[in-house]
Amino acid sequence: MDYLPLFLQLRSQTVVVVGGGRVAVRKVDLLRRSGARVTVVAPELREELHKLTLSGDVQHIAAPFHEEHLDEGPVLAIAATDNHEVNVAVSAAARARRIPVNVVDDPVLSTFIFPAIVDRSPIIVAVGSGGESPVLARRVREQIESLLPEKLGALARFMGARRKAVQKALGVLARRPFWERIVSGIVGTRVLAGDEAGAEKAFDSELRTSHLTTSPDTGRTGLGEVYLIGAGPGDPDLLTLRALQLLQQADVVLYDRLVPDAVLERSRRDAERIFVGKEAGDHTVQDRIHELLVQYASKGLRVARLKGGDPFVFGRGGEEIEVLTRHGIPYVNVPGITAAIGASSYAGIPLTHRRLAQSVTFVAGHVLTDESIDWRALAGPRQTVVFYMGVSHLDRIVAKLREAGANASHPTAIVERATLPEQRTVRGTLETIAAIAREAKVTAPALLIVGDVTAFNASDALPDGAARTGGSMSHGAFV
Ligand code: SAH
Repeated sequence: MDYLPLFLQLRSQTVVVVGGGRVAVRKVDLLRRSGARVTVVAPELREELHKLTLSGDVQHIAAPFHEEHLDEGPVLAIAATDNHEVNVAVSAAARARRIPVNVVDDPVLSTFIFPAIVDRSPIIVAVGSGGESPVLARRVREQIESLLPEKLGALARFMGARRKAVQKALGVLARRPFWERIVSGIVGTRVLAGDEAGAEKAFDSELRTSHLTTSPDTGRTGLGEVYLIGAGPGDPDLLTLRALQLLQQADVVLYDRLVPDAVLERSRRDAERIFVGKEAGDHTVQDRIHELLVQYASKGLRVARLKGGDPFVFGRGGEEIEVLTRHGIPYVNVPGITAAIGASSYAGIPLTHRRLAQSVTFVAGHVLTDESIDWRALAGPRQTVVFYMGVSHLDRIVAKLREAGANASHPTAIVERATLPEQRTVRGTLETIAAIAREAKVTAPALLIVGDVTAFNASDALPDGAARTGGSMSHGAFV
C-alpha cells in the first residue's frame, strides 16, 4: 500500500490554496463542503472565488505565493496553479514546515493526494490509484456510485439515532445480528426507498420482537419480507438501481414468464430461483404464487417477486399486496418500465405528441367482453391506445374499434418483443394490421398501438430542403 487512506476532520481548520483558477475553484468547493476555512493565495481570482471572498466565506491574499503564507500553521496546503515553479515552491515551503501538501496532478511534489469520492455522508467512499491513473480511479468511483443507494447516508443517520435505544434494549451479543437485520431487512429497505415513517414503525416492531427465536429452517428471525419488483420490458439495462439492489439481497426469487434470463442473472448467485409463470387468466397459478409468497416470507426469507414490466400495470401486483397485507408481511414496491413505455422508446413511437395525441390509454386486450371498456372513447382521434395481451385477439379488437367509429385508415403498429434483441415493429392501418401481423407471424409478447403517433417520423417536421442528418438511436430491429 503506497498511501494510507484517512478521513480528516477539517471543521474550522485553516487550509491554504495557492492559485485562483478553475482547478482552485474545485478544490475550494470541496474543502468548504468539509467545513474548512479556506485562504486563497493568488494575484487574481476567478469570478466564483471572488464572490466567496466578498461574502467573507473565503480569505484572499492578493499576492504571488510567498513561503510566509504558510507561517500561520494551516493544516493543509494545496497548490493549484499551472506554474511549475510556484508549485515547487509551495511544495518545498510546506514540507519544511511539516504541513501536508498536495500539488494538483503532481504526486511527486505531493505528500498526500485527493481520492475520487462517493459522498453519501456520513458514508463516504474514497478511491485512489496512488496517483497512477486518476481516470481509472474515477471509473471505479462511477461504478461504486451506481451501486450505493442515494439514501445510504439517511440510513446511517437513522441507525445512528437509534444506537442508544438498542444498547439499552439488547445484550451485547444480540446487537450485531439485530443491526444486520435492520440493514438488510425491511427497515433498511424502507429508509432507502425514502419511507422513513414506515421504517420507524418497522424498526419499533423489530425491536419489540427481537427476542423471538430464530427459525430452525433458515437461521433467520421473525417475519421475512417481499420485494415486488418490476423487471421492465426485457432489456436488463432497463432495471432500476433499486431493483438491482434488492435482487442482490433476496434469498428467493419468484419470477414470471416475461422475465428473461439476462434479467434473472442479475439476482444474487446463491438465491433460489423459482419459475411461477402462467398463461393469462390461469387462476390456480395465481393462488399458488400467493401461497409461495406467504410461505417463504413466513420462514423469515427475503423474497423478490420479479414481474415483467411494472407490477401494477396488468401485473396483478395489487392482488399480491392484498394477500401480503392480510398476512401482515412487510413488502416494498419497486416500479418497472412498463412494456408500452419500453416499446414506445425503442420503436421511436412517442405515445403523446403535441400535434398527434393528447392522451394515452393502456387497455387489456384479452378482456374484450368486459362491458366497462368504452370502445367509442377509444375509437376517437388525437389519442393513443395501447393494447396489452392483444395479439391473439387482433381481428376482434380491430372490429370493435371500427364498429365504434374508428377510421379504416387509422395508423396502427405492433411492437413485438420490445427492448429485446429480437424486437420487431410492423406498421399498417386498422384495416391492414391484422393481415400484416399474420404475414409477419407476430407472436406474444407484443403490443398493439393505435393512433397517429404510430405513423410518426421524426424527420417529417423538417422544412423542405433541410439536411436530414442524424436519425434514430433506438436499439431495436426495424421492419
Ligand atoms: N406488467 C407488464 C404487463 C404484463 S401483461 C408490464 O407492465 O409491461 C403481458 C403483456 O404485456 C403481453 O401480452 C404484451 O402485450 C405486453 N408485453 C410485455 N412485455 C413485452 C415486450 N417486451 N414487448 C411487447 N409487449 C410486451
